[in-house]
Amino acid sequence: MEIDVFTLFPEWFEWFAAQRHVANALAAGSTLSCISYREHSPLSGAQVDDMPFGGGAGMVLRVDVVESALRARYGVDPVQLPRRRRVIALAPGGRTLDDALVDELAAEPALTLLSGRYEGFDERVVEHFCSDVLSIGRYVLSGGELAAMVVCDAVLRKLPGALGDDRSAVEESFSAALEGNPEYPQYTRPAEHRGWRVPEILLSGHHARIGQWRLARSRERGQRASAEQPPRPPGEH
Ligand code: SAM
Repeated sequence: MEIDVFTLFPEWFEWFAAQRHVANALAAGSTLSCISYREHSPLSGAQVDDMPFGGGAGMVLRVDVVESALRARYGVDPVQLPRRRRVIALAPGGRTLDDALVDELAAEPALTLLSGRYEGFDERVVEHFCSDVLSIGRYVLSGGELAAMVVCDAVLRKLPGALGDDRSAVEESFSAALEGNPEYPQYTRPAEHRGWRVPEILLSGHHARIGQWRLARSRERGQRASAEQPPRPPGEH
């Protein structure tokens, strides 16, 4: 998997790339490259943003700056890019990231993530250069860098070699093995702490029954989570 992140703060990703499972995925053949909008700005003083037409607070990332960075990286007119690879604008109002979308992205050979700042992108970036708009949740961050890291983390850990044990990703929250439900409760030693006993079944050594118990707890958690989910506002899918 080749991941390119466009950002105003490429240095933020140095720490991220050094984290164990990310480093493992990179050692196993994936790449994570950060491209600076500012370095490729065609404007004087490496300007990247401007005031919004129509007025209002804040600044907007310019379409010509994003185009210049994409051209420098891929050597083609970026309007052609979405036919070749997923080009994803990060924005609070996009399609919300979930495990199904992570699986979809993990199956791609290459991803481009565009981090916004300020008030976000000039809309022509999204209209003409992007295949997707992705949100990591219905709240607003100051920039797309943390959102990009969330996407990279969730995607890379699905790839072979990222985790210490590849089986860790098979049976975890939202996986097919757990019918899309949250993971069951986990316990470790001591078996008793302050009178709080670990469920006896887990100490029984009876793997089939432990499997049934875990699936049942996982289903219960799924039902509870659905019951707690607030109703979606009208018009939202
Ligand atoms: N004015 C925008 C709005 O109201 O939707 C918010 C812009 S936000 C301050 C700046 C940048 O942070 C966005 O362009 C986006 O790249 C990123 N961002 C913020 N929240 C995000 C979220 N929940 N998911 C993905 N990206 C987010």
